[in-house]
Amino acid sequence: MIRLTMADKLALNKFEVNEGEPHILINQEKCRTCGEKNCLFACPAQLYSEQNGEITVEWAGCLECGTCLAVCTKDALSWKYPQGGFGIIYRQG
Ligand code: SF4
Ligand code: SF4
Repeated sequence: MIRLTMADKLALNKFEVNEGEPHILINQEKCRTCGEKNCLFACPAQLYSEQNGEITVEWAGCLECGTCLAVCTKDALSWKYPQGGFGIIYRQG
């Protein structure tokens, strides 16, 4: 049996990106008061990063797991599922 790495599994996914409508918005004011910055470590796809003191998320590659919302201690995220027909298409379970 071939064992796939996490990177291999993630590469199997397909994304329909709704360019005009991010499904994750970040309140930077709240992020500036956040010491833990859990989002940087908890996202399984590693989509969060900090650039010039601002938190950014590459939402187009989102797995829609909701982890970032669960670990954000400052309620800084506005998160919704992508509009119907958009978002991730899982090809393997
Ligand atoms: S965990 Fe929440 S408040 Fe903290 S940096 Fe990430 S999004 Fe901002
Ligand atoms: S929902 Fe999951 S995959 Fe999407 S940005 Fe949040 S933690 Fe990352």
